[in-house]
Amino acid sequence: MSILTKAIIDNQIVVTAVETKDIVNKAIKLHGLSPVAAAALGRTLTMAAMMGKELKNESDYLTIKINGGGPLGQITVCADGKGNVKGMVDNPVVETSLNANGHLAVGEAVGNDGSLTVIKDLGMKQPYVGSSKLVSGEIAQDFAYYFATSEQQPCGVTLGVGVSKKMCTSAGGVFVQVMPNCSEELLSKVETVMYAMDEMSYQFDHSTAREVITRFFGQFDPQFTEDSEVRYKCGCSKRKINRVVKSLGKDEAQSIIDEVGQIEVCCHFCNKKYVYKQEDVDKLFNK
Ligand SMILES: [Zn+2]
Repeated sequence: MSILTKAIIDNQIVVTAVETKDIVNKAIKLHGLSPVAAAALGRTLTMAAMMGKELKNESDYLTIKINGGGPLGQITVCADGKGNVKGMVDNPVVETSLNANGHLAVGEAVGNDGSLTVIKDLGMKQPYVGSSKLVSGEIAQDFAYYFATSEQQPCGVTLGVGVSKKMCTSAGGVFVQVMPNCSEELLSKVETVMYAMDEMSYQFDHSTAREVITRFFGQFDPQFTEDSEVRYKCGCSKRKINRVVKSLGKDEAQSIIDEVGQIEVCCHFCNKKYVYKQEDVDKLFNK
């Protein structure tokens, strides 16, 4: 079970932390991710879980797309206001050599020639779309740059995913949002703490999100405001897939049935397979 914790410092800084080992392991299992793909998707899922908690309504929905031109291809991650996240990458088996410091070369797999796009469906006529250039493809820096430039929200982001023997051993992230009323003095102290936050995945090894917040920000007397569960969960359903099949049009659907006997739709986020036979197609187009 993954728990997200929020705290506020002096009504000037909001700190969110989340422990995400189970979420990353679910993604590894579903997609057969290589270690570097697990790190890239895992970091993005971790950030999405924290961003989902910022949505005002439970039905609000956000989609993150990271496209850096690297061998991993596009990362697509979705989150809602209820703590559900899901994601996929174009090339889940990509392998890269390690960085000089022995870390997985996430930036090399993702690439840094491209953009990070966030689409928020807030139940209005048009979704909100924000986008920024990638800085490094290492994900955390790219999100910090996105918030600063696209949402005018100064913040700090640190994300970590540890992988060993094709399993996630520990994972999590910290998201620090600076309110407009934040004093220079507090900001510079918190920045010093953020710079010292290293090896993020190890910080969450046998530690809860609340413990990580206390470890780094305890000196500022944070007031804890929320503990909630987040999980990898796909919201696909027969009803939603019906719409996809219907969008083919009756003739196209029938020609697939004639050719291969059935229509198969596989959900890219959870690998669930939906099968439509002749009678299902008849029902779908005749109601
Ligand atoms: Zn699904």
